[in-house]
Parts: sequence; C-alpha cells; structure tokens
Amino acid sequence: MHSDTKQRGGNGEPPADQRLTLKKFNSAGRGFWHDVSDKDWNSWHWQLKNRITTLEQLQRLMPTLTPEEIAGTQLANQKLALAITPYFFNLIDLADENCPIRRQVIPRVEETHTASWEMTDPCGEDSHSPVPGLVHRYPDRVLFLVTDRCAAYCRYCTRSRLVSNATGYDFHPEFDKQIAYIAEHPEVRDVLLSGGDPLLFSDEKLENLLSRLRAIPHVEFLRIGTRIPIFLPQRITPELCAMLRQFHPLFMSVHANHPRELTTEVRDALGRLADAGIPLGNQSVLLRHVNDDVTVMQALVQKLLMCRVKPYYIYQCDLISGSSHLRASVRKGLEIMEQLRGHTTGYGVPTYVIDAPGGGGKVPVSPEYVLSRNRDRTVLRNYEGKVFEYIEGENKQPEFKLSENFDMPQLPWGEVRGYGSRD
Ligand code: SF4
Repeated sequence: MHSDTKQRGGNGEPPADQRLTLKKFNSAGRGFWHDVSDKDWNSWHWQLKNRITTLEQLQRLMPTLTPEEIAGTQLANQKLALAITPYFFNLIDLADENCPIRRQVIPRVEETHTASWEMTDPCGEDSHSPVPGLVHRYPDRVLFLVTDRCAAYCRYCTRSRLVSNATGYDFHPEFDKQIAYIAEHPEVRDVLLSGGDPLLFSDEKLENLLSRLRAIPHVEFLRIGTRIPIFLPQRITPELCAMLRQFHPLFMSVHANHPRELTTEVRDALGRLADAGIPLGNQSVLLRHVNDDVTVMQALVQKLLMCRVKPYYIYQCDLISGSSHLRASVRKGLEIMEQLRGHTTGYGVPTYVIDAPGGGGKVPVSPEYVLSRNRDRTVLRNYEGKVFEYIEGENKQPEFKLSENFDMPQLPWGEVRGYGSRD
C-alpha cells in the first residue's frame, strides 16, 4: 500500500499529522531537467514539446519501471497514448510502485483486461450526439467536444475511445456545425467546452470559439472542463486569464485527484484564474490506491478550498474498458462521503455521483441521513449518528398556534403574513 494511503496508525503516524503532510504545498521541482533554463521550463510550449511519450524515455527516467508497467506501455499506444509533461512527471515517487501519481499516468498491463460489463463509451455520449463532437443529453445544456488532445493522458479516461486518437476513432469536430446546432436550439442555455482539453488551443483560437458562442443570445453560461491547470500550470498565463475574463459568466471545472497534485505552481495558476473572476470547481474521480482513503480525500478537499476551488464532484470511476485495477468500490465512496459531511466545511463537501452506465446521466449517491419519513414526521440521523425528529403538521407547515391575546408586532416592512391560523 502506498505511504499516502496507509490506514490510521499503519506507519505510526497519526492521521492528523498525515493530513498536515498531505496538505503542504510543495513545488514539483526540476528533477531530471535541472539544466533547463527558467524560460524554457516555464513555457507551456516547451513542456508540451518535451513530454514523455515512449517506453525508451520512461525506462531512462524510471529505472524502477515494473514488468506490468513495461508491458502496459508497450501496448498503450493501441488504446490510449502515453504522454506526461516533465512538470507532472516530477510529482511521481520513483521509489514507490504504488505512488498515487504514477498510477494515474503510467500504463499498466491490466488495461488490456476487459470485463463483459465494461464499455468503450460508458456514458453513452455517442448515442446522444446530434452532430459530431456535440453531446446533447440533458435538456438545457450541451457538451461541446473541441479537441481529442490532452496535455497528459489519464489511464482511466472515460473518453479514451477518442482522446489521443490511439484507437483510430474518427474525431473531426466541425465547429461550424456544432455552433449552428447550438444557435438553432434556444433551449440550450449552458455550453460546456471539453474534449480532450480546450486549454491546449492557442489564446486566439479559444477566443474565437468563445466569441462565437457568446454571440448566441440564448447561451447564458459557459464552462470549460480542463485538467491543464494540474498537468501544465505553465499554460495559465496572465494573457490567457485576461482573454478568458471577457466571457463571463464563465466557470471552469478542473480535475485534481490527489492532494500532491496541488503544488505551489498549481496554487499560483488557480489563483490567477480566480483573480480573473472565474469560479472554479474540482471534479475528482474515485480511484483505487490513489484517493480511496478518507485522510487523502479530506486533505484534497481542504487544500482545494485553500486554492479557491470548490470541490464539486467525486465521480465513481466509469465502467471504461480496462479500468478495473483503478476502480474503487461504491461502498468505499459512501464511506468517504460519510467522513466528509459534517466533518469538514460544507463548501468542501462535493457531490458523489455515478454516471449511470449507458447514458442515464449523473445520479447522486449519498449515505442515508433520512431514516424514515411519513406525512407528519421525518426521522433524521446527523453526522455523529444521533437521531432527530422533524415534525410537520397536516398541511406540511410547521405547526404552532398563536395565543388569543397575541399582539401583532409593528414591523417596518408592513403587514405580517404567514402567522399560522391568523393568515
Ligand atoms: S485530461 Fe480529461 S480528457 Fe484528457 S485523458 Fe485525462 S480525463 Fe481524459
């Protein structure tokens, strides 16, 4: 078991201290790239150009590569490409085979094991796609897939059928058609740009796309789903932030799974986005031996709040083919939620959801707090397990009677209404 996910007392370290260690902001450092100039290292173009994409590079940088990882990497490019930015690579603990960062980006041979209930399109996106690259599953919003490329590739990616184009999926979004569909559907008030990662586009290309969407009168709200602030914080330049702030209301969903991903570089990048007025939410995926641990998840949500990011969702890992080694159980997810609600700031408690397999959409799952309910009363359990009753009258209004000689108060805003039987 990885050091970050050891159970309480397993390494002699009390959970509070372990959480404090996890919550520290550290820099990713330079690692193997200590000779690279600051100018290059801080350039997002340099980071992309120098990504680790081959087994030979990995073997040179990671002498501890296991046989499972070697076999997985040999096969990776037929399923989902291998790519890791030098910045993110530096977060891997090379001495730890089960490092939670390593498990997310280094391919393993288990990716070739497929169960009969696993799918290549677990959220049924292709069947809800009226034009290529656009998913219209919910009534008032669409998912606008703008690219099939990412800065690095997550081994559990729900869209691995299309991202990186390793499987030959024919992904050719046509922006004219996608935008025309949105313009012709006045019910679409919310557009989520995703992919792939939209922040891989140049500022000019992204600005053009956002301007075209903003020109549609019924589009009230824009969102960008991106993992770039985590994989490539160098991309979050002041120029990008200045461009994005023209398009408010514009929200951004980022994707961090483990507190170690929140480095000083990431904190600064998220700070620049927040300073540009962009509300930030985080979407984590519950992953086995990555973040399926209460202490790790508490540290993650608390650290996100320190970065001005609202923990928004924890996703149960979709039933994507070849992901069983990374999937944690729903039971574990519920146990974690039980230890978040009431035990930490309400703003730090995300919604735990399962994307219903085959295209049913997100379904929230939660520990049971309502023990029983009838017409008159609801029996509740709080986070400490204590039981309470909330009593309602027949008309479902809180029941109380005014005494006969009650004097109606004179309030500055006028007549009082809603006082039980006198109303
Ligand atoms: S960044 Fe998002 S789209 Fe890209 S590989 Fe990771 S999960 Fe998939």
